[in-house]
Amino acid sequence: MLEVIPVSHPYKLVSREAKPEDSVVSVGGVAVGGGNFAVVAGPCSVENPDQTLTIAQAVKNAGAHILRGGAYKPRTSPYSFQGLGKPGLEILREVGREVGMPIVSEALDEESLELVAEHCDMIQIGARNMQNFSLLRYCGRAHKPVLLKRGMAATVEELLMAAEYVLSEGNYNVVLCERGIRTFADHTRNTLDLAAVVAVQRLSHLPIIVDPSHGTGKRHKVIPMARAGAAVGADGLMIEVHHDPARALSDGAQAVLPEELAQLMQQLPVLLPLTGRHLTRALTATA
Ligand code: PEP
Ligand code: MN
Repeated sequence: MLEVIPVSHPYKLVSREAKPEDSVVSVGGVAVGGGNFAVVAGPCSVENPDQTLTIAQAVKNAGAHILRGGAYKPRTSPYSFQGLGKPGLEILREVGREVGMPIVSEALDEESLELVAEHCDMIQIGARNMQNFSLLRYCGRAHKPVLLKRGMAATVEELLMAAEYVLSEGNYNVVLCERGIRTFADHTRNTLDLAAVVAVQRLSHLPIIVDPSHGTGKRHKVIPMARAGAAVGADGLMIEVHHDPARALSDGAQAVLPEELAQLMQQLPVLLPLTGRHLTRALTATA
């Protein structure tokens, strides 16, 4: 039987009218959304096998659930470190297997998307590509969940319309990410818009996580804003971690130390019951 659902928003599939209950997205067996709070942590960039393994072991021991690491980096300058490319994905995959964590990495274009989908458990689409509509359509045809970050000048409606592109091609496994927007403020790299989390959750069934690393750009602000993200009711966090931030090849200024992440992980169980959430677990052994 055909069912007709009246939808009053321009986004249809992502709206709560189309699906009132929260979506739960499985990332390599780790549940995100519907009460399951997931912590994604790792370096901004995969730099080499030792660096990646050192950080991965630290974030795993801290209790994080999903390992991140960029192999294709969208850098403002063409002369900055651009990421290791495919060898970076191979390192991340190997390390993810070794520590027993699902992995997420950013795709910049069609070619890297194919490689990220092949090597990783989740495809990240970064802020700069949030409105790359052809890339979003490719994500919609990929067989891996997508982490879609809010563009730095995108409204909540534009973020939801971007997600709609992915769902409209048949991929319903999308997790949104608030990572800060451009404002006149200069005490932070971006302005972390936590009200967007509340707005999205009213309008959409998709999980939304908070990235206080890009959202502040400064190490000492990351953990307090991570706690704020948990308190506001986000479905998870994405945090950049480095054991030697002074030597990081990208985003060292916003990388927290492993012990800072470990402390946050101890604090989260105090905050999460306030919003009816709990730390997620791996549903299946990934090791
Ligand atoms: C990242 O996660 O390393 C990144 C580049 O994020 P954003 O697209 O939010 O700037
Ligand atoms: Mn980064």
